[in-house]
Amino acid sequence: KAKKTGKSGPTPMMVQYLALKEQAGDCLLFYRMGDFFELFFEDAKKAAATLDIALTSRGEHEGEPVAMCGVPVHAAEAYLARLIKAGHKVAIAEQTETPAEAKARGSKALVARDIIRFVTAGTLTEDTLLDARADNILAAIAEVRGEIAIASADISSGVFRVETVEAAALDATLARLDPGEILVSPHGPKAQSGWETRPAEDFDSEAARSELTARFGNLDPNFSRAELAALGGILSYLGHVGRGSEAFLTTPERRETQAFLAMDAATRQSLEITASVSGSRTLSLLGTIDRTVTGAGARQLARDLAAPLCAISSITARHDAVAWLYEDALLRDTLIDDLKAIPDIGRALGRIVAGRGSPRDLGQIRDGLNGARLLRERLGETPDLPPLIDGLLPDMSGHGALTDLLDRALIESPPTERSKGGYIATGYDAALDDLRNTSRNARQAIAALEARYRGDTGIDSLKIKHNGVLGYFIEVPPRHADPLMAAESGFTHRQTLANAVRFNAPALHDEALRITEAGGRALLAEEAHFEELTGAVSQPASAIAATADALARIDVTLSHARYAAEHGWARPEMTEGYELTITAGRHPVVEAALAKQGEAFVANGVALDDSERVWLVSGPNMGGKSTFLRQNALIVILAQSGGFVPAASATIGIVDRLFSRVGASDNLARGQSTFMVEMVETAAILNAATERSFVILDEVGRGTSTYDGLALAWAVVEAVHEVNRCRCLFATHYHELTRLAETLDALTLHHVRAREWQGDLVLLHEVASGPADRSYGLSVAKLAGVPQNVLTRAKAILDKLEEGRAATGGLAAGLGDLPLFAAMADAPEPETDALREALEAVDVDALSPREALDRLYALKALL
Ligand code: ADP
Repeated sequence: KAKKTGKSGPTPMMVQYLALKEQAGDCLLFYRMGDFFELFFEDAKKAAATLDIALTSRGEHEGEPVAMCGVPVHAAEAYLARLIKAGHKVAIAEQTETPAEAKARGSKALVARDIIRFVTAGTLTEDTLLDARADNILAAIAEVRGEIAIASADISSGVFRVETVEAAALDATLARLDPGEILVSPHGPKAQSGWETRPAEDFDSEAARSELTARFGNLDPNFSRAELAALGGILSYLGHVGRGSEAFLTTPERRETQAFLAMDAATRQSLEITASVSGSRTLSLLGTIDRTVTGAGARQLARDLAAPLCAISSITARHDAVAWLYEDALLRDTLIDDLKAIPDIGRALGRIVAGRGSPRDLGQIRDGLNGARLLRERLGETPDLPPLIDGLLPDMSGHGALTDLLDRALIESPPTERSKGGYIATGYDAALDDLRNTSRNARQAIAALEARYRGDTGIDSLKIKHNGVLGYFIEVPPRHADPLMAAESGFTHRQTLANAVRFNAPALHDEALRITEAGGRALLAEEAHFEELTGAVSQPASAIAATADALARIDVTLSHARYAAEHGWARPEMTEGYELTITAGRHPVVEAALAKQGEAFVANGVALDDSERVWLVSGPNMGGKSTFLRQNALIVILAQSGGFVPAASATIGIVDRLFSRVGASDNLARGQSTFMVEMVETAAILNAATERSFVILDEVGRGTSTYDGLALAWAVVEAVHEVNRCRCLFATHYHELTRLAETLDALTLHHVRAREWQGDLVLLHEVASGPADRSYGLSVAKLAGVPQNVLTRAKAILDKLEEGRAATGGLAAGLGDLPLFAAMADAPEPETDALREALEAVDVDALSPREALDRLYALKALL
């Protein structure tokens, strides 16, 4: 028997709401009611909590009050932005008919509603929802027969790409792409937290192939099934969230994962490339060196730094371009001025193609394309363009017919609001001009009518007014109303208010009709032109996107050249060798921070090659070890992403993978078992670093006891030296490790210099060769303000300990006798294991048949 829950069944509105909510799934449903989007039930509670707005209730459902909150439609974008940032997705249900239409259809009060769009983190196009200086990537991952592909799209600028990755490189690739939303096929790989598993049919490679061909014409025949599946995953999802409207995508492009310097998430985080550990862009490498003047340029620079290249030819092409602008400050300034004036055409285009464009977006495309053409002309007159820039020129012009059209069609600064019209220029359409003249003349006619009625009635305070409900009407104060009420007055009464009485009259009626008709037809004409113009812009969308890319590339080149020139940076020389030779290198972020306080950065060099692969850097805390390690990694990143570097000179043998690890105690913020994290990350390096890689290890092993830590650090250095044979800088405070120099021939010792001066420690931040002469722990403690009595006590303990060390040979005593790591690597695995131990423990004679069977199961489980 059905349980009776309420007095009556749900209202028709509730039935409609629940049906829409069902379609909305896990998205919050914005349900349009008049001037508000309302949210109900759990949605309302979540939204009210995130947005900090009032939660009320409305009516009952199944005997319970219905929680409700709402946001005004005109301010909806700001609220949407906050909900999306907080990790929600939103479905927007709009009214799809007017109340009048609903009535005509026979529906008493309920207007039809439909979900017109899903708003999700990876599928935004609105300026207000996007960060102008950051990409917004949607990624889809598919696995077909063990092959994994990642497709990525930025529908705000049309980027559409796919790459095949090794399972081991999946996380690093995602760290490079840094998507706002990640979709995954149910056939794998295994979804991680935050990923959304989409239906299997979304990833059907054959369906994807036909859809891609239909949309983009001839397709690269070499796409693998996994790649097609991943691309299909993107297309299906975009179709779903856009409710069938087509998002802006350019022809999909395959990228080779090996083309990029591989860096995993931990490395990116510890080097603070695009965001600092605390999440700030300003304090990152990107934030420090970003001198771009356009949003598109800023996004391109972020992409470049996140994905440094590995091919010398592409890298040097970028260096050539930077060098050209580095030399010429005057040209640089001119070009920067040109670029500053150019709007973000990539994003305007994205909105237009998605059907969410505004007249302002059309204006931006016009101004942007015109700006690109002017810039192209200027560059065309410049002698000796570097090939990279020369190659961009064709992309920057060729939109002549389109800009002519937009020039003629649009007023100078078109509005974002489209429904009120007024954005089509006078002279573009004679019929539209006529309609506008009619309504303009009619307004004069209204003024004339007002004067005439005043004369006829003798009422000076008579006015003709207009409002949304009555349209045009005649208004007089109540004390003058009586004569007009008479039938023969020619006026018809419409409304009486406390302080005014309103009338209509035949001549006014006719004039009003002319005005509304002409106005309405003018609006329709503008709408038609708008459609025509967005069509004209969408058709060459790929070419416009190419123009946007060319402008962004020029902006990035300028940014590198400008920062390098302002800070005395040098062009790095790239080689196929294994060297890393840097003279007078600096850490760009630390240097900039010190400069703000009026302090100088101490430049330091490095010189690694095949015969000297590992530098062991010791010295006091705060001496500058981490800074030194990181600056060299950052120099590699800057160089391979196409920029100049903070050094007097740099010669860099291409690096294929870069790893940066920081000892556990520096990373407490992460709150996990930090030593475990450190070891997991170290394992990743030992498993993946090649001869081409560059590794910086900072205080590895310090998250555990002294003996464990020293032992691990020792073994890690040996492995890096003997097995990975990569370039490596290893900072440590374990003085004992310096003994490794006795056995490892490509390892040399270095230290950050410090001096005791009049009882105080002076940190010189200078890297010198040889081991540190002593440990400065107590001096650093003094520097930090540890009280003198504690220091005195510590000194006494230290003396005692050092006596002990002198007697026994210290912590690392006897380690010199150990066979080398390489010799150990071939040693057989130790013979004992759990299975063997369990087997040995079995006393066969003492077992009953039943016990024997149980034991057999237990052994099997150990396998
Ligand atoms: P360590 O890793 O040896 O403990 P850090 O590299 O963290 O030391 O450096 C500590 C501080 O010293 C930095 O925050 C910075 O202010 C300063 N410092 C480091 N290197 C330099 C340098 N080369 N020139 C000037 N100041 C430096």
